[in-house]
Amino acid sequence: MNWLNKLFHGKKCVLCHRHTSGMRKYMDDHGQLIYVCPTCSGYAERRAFRKLK
Ligand SMILES: [Zn+2]
Repeated sequence: MNWLNKLFHGKKCVLCHRHTSGMRKYMDDHGQLIYVCPTCSGYAERRAFRKLK
């Protein structure tokens, strides 16, 4: 069930669009909360996304 999956795994990496565990929260230029997977987090930091605790 795709929609059910979406409901429970709503966090999707904004860079690679994959659902991964251990997502990290970032804030983009517009103050929008985004999720980035550990694989893409290095790229996110180069893009100057602010990391949230
Ligand atoms: Zn990713």
